[in-house]
Amino acid sequence: MYITNSPFADFMIVVAVTNPELGLKGISIFIVDADTPGLTVNAPLKKLGMGASEMAEIVFEDCRIPVENRLGPEEAGLIRALKVLTLGRIASAAFGVGLGRAAMQESRSYCSQRVQFGGPLTANQFVRFTIADMATRLEASWQSCLHSARLADAGQPHDREASMAKLFATETCTWVCERALHLGGAQAYMKESPVQRFYRDCKVLEIGEGTSEIQRETIFKQLGV
Ligand SMILES: Cc1cc2nc3c(=O)[nH]c(=O)nc-3n(C[C@H](O)[C@H](O)[C@H](O)COP(=O)(O)OP(=O)(O)OC[C@H]3O[C@@H](n4cnc5c(N)ncnc54)[C@H](O)[C@@H]3O)c2cc1C
Repeated sequence: MYITNSPFADFMIVVAVTNPELGLKGISIFIVDADTPGLTVNAPLKKLGMGASEMAEIVFEDCRIPVENRLGPEEAGLIRALKVLTLGRIASAAFGVGLGRAAMQESRSYCSQRVQFGGPLTANQFVRFTIADMATRLEASWQSCLHSARLADAGQPHDREASMAKLFATETCTWVCERALHLGGAQAYMKESPVQRFYRDCKVLEIGEGTSEIQRETIFKQLGV
């Protein structure tokens, strides 16, 4: 369910239970051609945001996959899938920083140019402080993202740092996009405005690759307390 880009995919990486008796250890990974008999990609689902990608449900019915299509050893899938997921969290953090920066840039530009009550909106301390807070939180997000990426590149443990970066950067992104919509007034609320799109796009970053609650669980478990 909810598989990004499945309507365009020629092949898919499928994480499947191959030995139910082993529980989480009974999982393997397969590369599966999209035209395999028994595999159906349903019609694209309609989303709130992220209009540049499509997603759909994939249905497997009596779909037989040859053993040569298995990636890696049998029943070693969970650890491999989790490794990919952890790197995906660092990517989500970077996505949040990029989206947040774009939203902040729109706020800076609009609030510098828009004249109300005899001066630009940036003449108001509230506006300046909100944009300064956006910049500060985004910078902290970026440094956290870089830190986790450097650990991953160096082959050092990075599960906790990846979750921290993902949690902080994506929640920051949602906060920045909401504030950008607020500071942009009615024009930001219009469909022509990129800010309303950022506002619709940002939320999924807190949901995909493990929700914020899952990140908090991971961080707590790794605090060693
Ligand atoms: C746009 C989009 C694209 C996606 N693309 C893909 C994709 O390509 N591949 C793929 O595999 N998946 C994809 N997903 C699915 C995504 O990974 C899941 O939506 C996500 O992991 C959350 O799972 P869920 O939707 O089942 O939420 P649920 O598990 O139903 O959670 C609902 C709420 O309950 C909370 N919750 C759940 N368990 C706990 C707990 N133990 N403690 C506290 N709170 C909890 C969650 O944090 C959340 O707030 C996509 C989703 C979206 C929206």
